[in-house]
Amino acid sequence: REEELQQLVDDVSTTKDGHEVELAANIGSPKDIDVALANGAEGIGLFRTEFLYMDRDRLPTEDEQFQAYSEVLEKMAGRPVVIRTLDIGGDKDLPYLDLPEELNPFLGFRAIRLCLERTDLFRTQLRALLRASAYGNLKIMFPMVATLEEFREAKALLEEERQNLLGEGHEVSGSIEVGIMVEIPSTAMIADQFAKEVDFFSIGTNDLIQYTMAADRMNENVSYLYQPYHPAVLRLIERVILAAKAEGKWTGMCGEMAGDTVAIPVLLGLGLNEFSMSASSILEARAQLKELSYKETKTASPKILAQSTNEAVKEYVQENFLK
Ligand code: PEP
Ligand code: MG
Repeated sequence: REEELQQLVDDVSTTKDGHEVELAANIGSPKDIDVALANGAEGIGLFRTEFLYMDRDRLPTEDEQFQAYSEVLEKMAGRPVVIRTLDIGGDKDLPYLDLPEELNPFLGFRAIRLCLERTDLFRTQLRALLRASAYGNLKIMFPMVATLEEFREAKALLEEERQNLLGEGHEVSGSIEVGIMVEIPSTAMIADQFAKEVDFFSIGTNDLIQYTMAADRMNENVSYLYQPYHPAVLRLIERVILAAKAEGKWTGMCGEMAGDTVAIPVLLGLGLNEFSMSASSILEARAQLKELSYKETKTASPKILAQSTNEAVKEYVQENFLK
């Protein structure tokens, strides 16, 4: 089995009826790139940049960040690399930032909300990203976006820093895609509006599920409500993918669900373009795709979305696509 999988390392990711998707890796540091490539990653679908900020006592400088981002881009040699801007807050604290104690950290001051307030640290990260863009195929992604204004504000800061850098004589790529994570139901619901302004979506199901089900992803007492195949979650995902398609944009997924054997046939049928997962799942996913017919999963989509429970969806997929 191991050997069989290993033979797929350099393959494209195609279904048996010739439908192509991208299988990418989630990484947390430049050190993860070698493993991602050894496991056949066609790109990086999520680079969590938090590691640069954690386990230290001050903010990382622009140069420190530039080093990390350009290293990843260079090693990926022109393959797509989606780098997510800082997603701190929630369960991830930075002691040296003196963040407020909150009653509901997951509903609080985190990610893009914090970055739009602390524009000093946000601008530093954006500058490092823009400078690194000259070294590969960079796509920038903002986390936890709930409103169009947040996206517009973040994008405006990015454009300002681009102009600043050009003025200072730096090289900046002219073709950086700028997208958002879809992790909040409000954003999924108006994905059609977002799709007119973003270059891509990446669905963050780890958070999208907890916000849709109102069930803290860290709380074991409500873990039974953490239901990836709940039809409400699937319908939100469908909405996002259709909205992107209508505007000629692409949709990825970088939550755990993207590498889940039961979810893959469903997501394929819904038209997801990019699946980003932990490196260790990529070859399994590629092998699974080879056995699937895109046409069949697509035809099954309405039936899957018409199921009424997480369990019913799971059973349907198991019976029709996992035998
Ligand atoms: C997600 O929410 O699905 C996601 C990929 O982001 P994180 O797990 O870092 O919150
Ligand atoms: Mg998230």
